[in-house]
Amino acid sequence: MIYLDNAATTKMCDEAVQAMEPYLNEMYGNPSGIYNLSKMAKEIVDSARENIADAIHTKPENIFFTSGGTESDNWVLENAHNFGNHIITSSIEHHAILNKCASMEKEGMDISYIGTDREGVVNPYEIADRIRNDTALISIMFANNEIGTIQPIKEIGEIAKEYHIMFHTDAVQAFCHVPIDVENLGIDMLSASSHKFHGPKGIGFLYVREPEKMLPLIYGGGQERGKRAGTENVIGIAGMSAAVVEAMKNLDKRMKKETELRNYLINRVLREIPYVRLNGHASKRLPGNANFTIAGIDGTSLVVLMDNDGICVSSGSACSAGDDSASHVITAIGVPEQYAYGTIRITLCADNTKEEIDYTIHCLKENVRKMRSM
Ligand code: PLP
Repeated sequence: MIYLDNAATTKMCDEAVQAMEPYLNEMYGNPSGIYNLSKMAKEIVDSARENIADAIHTKPENIFFTSGGTESDNWVLENAHNFGNHIITSSIEHHAILNKCASMEKEGMDISYIGTDREGVVNPYEIADRIRNDTALISIMFANNEIGTIQPIKEIGEIAKEYHIMFHTDAVQAFCHVPIDVENLGIDMLSASSHKFHGPKGIGFLYVREPEKMLPLIYGGGQERGKRAGTENVIGIAGMSAAVVEAMKNLDKRMKKETELRNYLINRVLREIPYVRLNGHASKRLPGNANFTIAGIDGTSLVVLMDNDGICVSSGSACSAGDDSASHVITAIGVPEQYAYGTIRITLCADNTKEEIDYTIHCLKENVRKMRSM
C-alpha cells in the first residue's frame, strides 16, 4: 500500500508509539493524584506542555490540551461571544470553523466570510476593511487542508494587533509541517491536532496568549487550570509530545524532502496529463500538498480506482468524504462546479519515496485515460 493521504491523517511515528506504551501499562496514574504513580503521569503531561510551547515559541502555561482540532476551533469561536457580536473568517476554512460559525449565526452572531484569490490566498486588507467596533475575533487558517495554500499570517497578525482584535489561526495542517513562531507572527490563539503530524488521534491543543480571557468550553474538574475539565488524555499527550519532538528535530530536512517530491509530482502530472489544473498557490503551499482538478473525470471514482492499485489518495477533505456536493474550497477559488468534481488531493510525508510517486503517476495517467475513454 502507498499512503498519500497525509492531510487526512498520518501514520504514528515509532517515537510516539514507544512514548505511549508505558502509560498504556504500568504508568496508569491519574495526573491529579499526589502519590508517585500520579506524579509520573503528571510529569509527562508537564513535559509535553513544555515541548509544545517550545515548538511555537511560547510558554507552557499558554498551552491547553484538547481532544483535537475540532474542539480547539469550537472553543475559540464560542469564546468570541464574550468580546463582541462579529467574527471575521474565510470561506475556505475547515468545517470545524464553518459549521460552528453557522450555528453561532443562528444565535445572532454576525460572521463575515472573506473570499480568496484564485490560488486560495486571503487578502489581509479585505480583513481590515471588514473590522467593526463589535468585531470579537479574526479566525483565518494557517494553511488549507485541501489545497495547501499558506495564508499571509504575519500580515493578518499585524492588522489584528493594530485594531486590538484577537487573532486565531487553525494551524491543524501547518503545525509541525512549517515553522511557526506565535510571537513573531502575532498569533493570539492557535489550534493543532496530533494525528496530522504522526502522533495519535483524539488529542490536540489550543495555544492561548491570554488565558485569563478564555472561558471554559467544557466544565467539570480543575484540570488544565480550570479551563478544560476532564481527566487528561495522558496516553495521547505522551504520544503527541514525542511526535512534536521528532517533527521539530527534523523539520527542515522533512520540508526539503517533501517539497522536492511534491514538485516532482506536480511537474510530471501537469506535463504528462492534459487538461489538469493545479489548485492552490504554486510556492506558498504546504510542503506535502498537491491538489489537481482533472477535466473529464470524477474524483471519487478516481480515488476508488487508485485504491484498487493500492494507493490511498483523497478526492477532497476526509471530513467531507461521503458528502456528494462539490468542495467549498475548490469552488471558492473559482473552479467551475462541473470541473470541481474532478478534484484529487495527494498529500505526501517525508517517508514517501520517488519510486512510490513514479508508480502513483503511472496509475494516475492510466486511470485518467480509462475514465476519459468511457
Ligand atoms: N482544521 C483543519 C484545517 C483540519 O484539516 C482538520 C482535520 O482534518 C481539523 C481542523 C479537525 O481536526 P481534528 O480531526 O483533530 O478534530
